[in-house]
Amino acid sequence: MITVDERGSITSIEAASPDERLPETHPGAVFLPGLVDTHVHYPQTRVKGSASGPLLDWLKATVFPEEAKFADDDYAAAVALEFSAAMIAQGTTTASIYGSPHPAATDILFATLARLGLRAQLGLTLMDRGAPPENLLAAGPALAACEGLIERWHGHDDDRLRFCVTPRFALSCTPQLLRGAADLACAHGLSLQTHLAENDAELRATAAAFPDAADYLEVYESHGLVGERSLFAHCIHLSERNWDRLAERRACVAHCPDSNFFLGSGVMPLQAATSRGVRVGLGTDVGAGRTFSLRRVAARAYDAALLRGAPVTPEALLWLATRGGAEALGLDDRIGLLEPGFDADLCAVDLPTSSRRDPFDALLFNLDAGPVRATYVRGRRLLVDA
Ligand SMILES: [Zn+2]
Repeated sequence: MITVDERGSITSIEAASPDERLPETHPGAVFLPGLVDTHVHYPQTRVKGSASGPLLDWLKATVFPEEAKFADDDYAAAVALEFSAAMIAQGTTTASIYGSPHPAATDILFATLARLGLRAQLGLTLMDRGAPPENLLAAGPALAACEGLIERWHGHDDDRLRFCVTPRFALSCTPQLLRGAADLACAHGLSLQTHLAENDAELRATAAAFPDAADYLEVYESHGLVGERSLFAHCIHLSERNWDRLAERRACVAHCPDSNFFLGSGVMPLQAATSRGVRVGLGTDVGAGRTFSLRRVAARAYDAALLRGAPVTPEALLWLATRGGAEALGLDDRIGLLEPGFDADLCAVDLPTSSRRDPFDALLFNLDAGPVRATYVRGRRLLVDA
């Protein structure tokens, strides 16, 4: 029995007596802390699983044409609802989201998340080069639009929604925009997210675009983008020294193995992060990721770790999908644990009786296992029709 106060904090967890009359029950299900998706792209919802990889080809053929559609507010609103519903259906309560390059579409997603009750950090995806003109916004107007979105949404509903500075990646930003993004994050004390070292061709193109930088990580370091509020997705092709630098700067990592397999990007060395104490969460990376289910992503993370010769347990992977994600997003004082004092962000997942002996294996690795039955943020059940 989980008791929640009027603010949505857990006040107690104890066994319920058989004659207890509880307002909501989920017989046969287990409760998990709400799943935390540390890397997901809202405007790629409708191209999830579209095969045109590897990365740079896939961006050009699939992603940029789809993201251009978010100039249309009606389209953006329809997808915002689909995107939110897909996360709720998989037990995701918190996400770190890349918005569209269009300020209005990003505002629409903020409003949808606010209404439906999800917890998130979200940013306008900053791009002022390296894509068709309809996908780009120059540094000046883009940073001004960020200021407007910060004013409107950052800290909304007792900090349930946050603005996150989101330069897409080095190749899509001029040095001026990268520096402006870092200044914006610094001025407002904001988190920052981007992609790092995903694919070989991307590494070569980045080296050519930033010839003064010794490596990819230095591009971000030299523009002031690496610190304890920075969240880097992928981190596949990094040297040991790069990992040392990420650890020294207390940066965080979003591990997205399903996406990495789908685009043939490579396998992130999870142990390189965890052995250094680098905070790591799991990310679906929809739409290069083929699912909104972090349980499925955890299964891919298991496969990836085995390929790297450093197996991980299902318990450790469930930790990454919940508490690890909360740490990577700087929310570990509020979510990621089912304990009194923490916000009641949780999900109820069917667990077949036959799976009782190995519940962690069944929850994560049996891809035909039971669905998520209910998803709650601050004790409120999330319903798309609400
Ligand atoms: Zn991504």
